[in-house]
Amino acid sequence: MAGKMPREIAPGVFWIGDCLAQRHKGKIYHGYNAAYLIAGETASCLVETGHPKDFPVIERHMGELFERGVPPLKYLFVTHQETPHCGGLGRVLKTFPDTLLCGDVSDYHLAFPQYEHRMRWMQEGDEIDLGGRSLMAVEPVIRDLRTTWWGLETRERVLFPGDGFAYSHYHEDGHCGLVAEEATSLDLPDVSSTFADLALFWTKFADMNAYCDRLDFLIERLGVKTIAPTHGLPITDVKATVPKVQAGLKAAALMPESGTNEKVPLTSAGPARTAA
Ligand SMILES: [Zn+2]
Ligand SMILES: [Zn+2]
Repeated sequence: MAGKMPREIAPGVFWIGDCLAQRHKGKIYHGYNAAYLIAGETASCLVETGHPKDFPVIERHMGELFERGVPPLKYLFVTHQETPHCGGLGRVLKTFPDTLLCGDVSDYHLAFPQYEHRMRWMQEGDEIDLGGRSLMAVEPVIRDLRTTWWGLETRERVLFPGDGFAYSHYHEDGHCGLVAEEATSLDLPDVSSTFADLALFWTKFADMNAYCDRLDFLIERLGVKTIAPTHGLPITDVKATVPKVQAGLKAAALMPESGTNEKVPLTSAGPARTAA
């Protein structure tokens, strides 16, 4: 449900986009493929583009914000080259011809050679100036591609962690459009571990204590006040909520891999044996 969007999660930072329903073990999980609009004094920056199906919603939400006086879209920052994060990239660049694409821009020139002159590389610490605030590329602690950068909005200290803090929410409980702290019936450790199990497979083979310590270090070093994940609900009480997500990551690492598809059980009488 997109009725609550655009939602201002920190002054001048707007949550936009829509949920995506996914079936897993007989349950329907709702996840976000969110985008965020940061409004500076002179320019706006879109963070992520949403799932390709969401472009009409994202475009409508941005239109509402521009009508309210938000400065024009000059920048698009995407955390990495994966469909739920950058799937609307071509349409954003086509619709907003003055917008530059920023971040790790590997391979985009192959998909969109016509926009190559509008692509700008960023390294850790590089900033996009929006007037009175900027978006900085920061260390991506939890990620699924090597090319990932996370973003930090420097005035309100909003972290955009891409696939970090990824978890689904309960549509039936009315969680769509709520921040994590408002979704009181959401079992954060459970939905975080389920998401990690399905989408962040490497967490099975890593010591997640080290990753969680590194997350704490990053949050402290950057003075993060709000977390704006692509798939999870935004986090507005970092101290209270981050440990619950970390508990899910640590639990997922200890669970045997469940796989993303239904499996045919292998028995001694099964086809694998008889074929051999
Ligand atoms: Zn993702
Ligand atoms: Zn939802």
